[in-house]
Amino acid sequence: MPLQTLWLLSVLVFLINYTFEVLDFNHLYESQQFLLVLAQLILSLWALIEWALLRNSQTALPLTGLGLALSAQCLIGLSRLPLGWLLENGQAPVETLPSHFDSPVSHFDLGLAVVYVPLNLLLFLLISKLLISAFAFTERQRAVMLQRETATRLSAEEEVRTLRAQLERTAYELTENIPVGTYTIVLPPGDAMAKFSFMSRRFIELTGLDRKAAASDPLQAFACVHPDDYPAWVQLNAEAFARKQPFFGQTRIIVHDQVRWITAESRPRALPDGSTVWEGVLIDVTEQVLDKQAAEEARRALQAANAELQRLATTDRLTGAWNRTHLEETLDAEMHRAERYRQPLSLLIFDIDHFKAINDTHGHLVGDEVLIELTRRIHAHLRTVDVLARWGGEEFVLLLPHCGTAEAQQVAEKLRALVADPPFPVAGQVTASFGLAQWQPQEPLDTWLKRADDALYAAKAAGRNRVRLAE
Ligand code: GH3
Ligand code: MG
Ligand code: MG
Repeated sequence: MPLQTLWLLSVLVFLINYTFEVLDFNHLYESQQFLLVLAQLILSLWALIEWALLRNSQTALPLTGLGLALSAQCLIGLSRLPLGWLLENGQAPVETLPSHFDSPVSHFDLGLAVVYVPLNLLLFLLISKLLISAFAFTERQRAVMLQRETATRLSAEEEVRTLRAQLERTAYELTENIPVGTYTIVLPPGDAMAKFSFMSRRFIELTGLDRKAAASDPLQAFACVHPDDYPAWVQLNAEAFARKQPFFGQTRIIVHDQVRWITAESRPRALPDGSTVWEGVLIDVTEQVLDKQAAEEARRALQAANAELQRLATTDRLTGAWNRTHLEETLDAEMHRAERYRQPLSLLIFDIDHFKAINDTHGHLVGDEVLIELTRRIHAHLRTVDVLARWGGEEFVLLLPHCGTAEAQQVAEKLRALVADPPFPVAGQVTASFGLAQWQPQEPLDTWLKRADDALYAAKAAGRNRVRLAE
């Protein structure tokens, strides 16, 4: 119950009580003035109630009665003075007073008593007005404070709104303007299908997807994948989704009839409602992939060129056998190996017999063909560890690792027979002479070579087309 209503009730109770006490004191219940006093009291109460309700602006009563009530009250008060005077002059008899009053009460007291009622009423009105003013003042203070608080809150809210708008704008600009596509896919709990919840402008640009179609059916996102990459790409995605694992992949896509390379990377995040969201980026890496491919091709070309250079530097151009430079390097290494592992190592030097005559009879080109064919025949019968090199002109060296004299002699005989038969295409039968020397531990290279060369010379001297062992 509002304070003011309480206050109003207590004033009313007091007034009614006071009025009846005055009436009782003056023995006015029986008096003909009783009706006048009662009317005055009712008017006073009406005025007071109206006044209080008017202050609250809460009344539906006709307020215009306030002035009327106060005026009527004034008139009654005024009319009661001469009436009281008339009574005092004994024109109207007053009832006998109760015994506890010693002196008789004059009718003037009666008149005064009825005037006190409105006077008291006025006094209470005044006090109540002051009290109400005091209440109103504290209420006003509270209202001002509330207003201030509201204003502060409103400005804080406005600030938050501005900040949020700013943040949203920044986030939007970031996601829309960065040169990578961004997207989010939500996988609801249960069997429901995953769905794109966000696709940035760049994402749509990169994939050439129809935004609406992809939003309603995420499988549309696979439509642009290159047919050759399609099965692997779908599987990769399905696995990451099933296991709720981070996803990373690179694939070719076809957008506007153009093949592009993209990488997609996304990470899952669990949401409070049990669903999972993958937040991902899509990057066009076509330039990098093409650059890498070009670099790889260039590297391979360089490697091939190096290999070719190496081949040219180590092989004989005409026959494809090793050249002298390579042989000398190999000889050195093989001698070390033979010494270290105590393995036998043999060397054959062979020279085509009467080669000058072939050249002279059939021409230089036929001579070349003989060199090529002879190399081919010998190569076909060598082990991978054997090293055949063109020593110069129509003279060759064959290095035989792990071969002692006996084994090397067998090889030499086999090769000699291989040269001698079948006949060469134009030149006819061609023969060669062989000198053989097994390396002796600690023997210097030139000594070893000299011994083999001497053996070859001996083979020539002995009639050619034969094998001779070194001393
Ligand atoms: P012998 O039986 O004593 O070895 O006699 P030969 O004629 O084979 O030996 P000679 O040293 O007299 O002649 C070698 C010839 O080989 C001379 C040279 O013109 C020829 N010759 C050297 N290199 C090549 C080549 O690459 N192609 C051709 N067609 N001939 C070559
Ligand atoms: Mg010769
Ligand atoms: Mg020669």
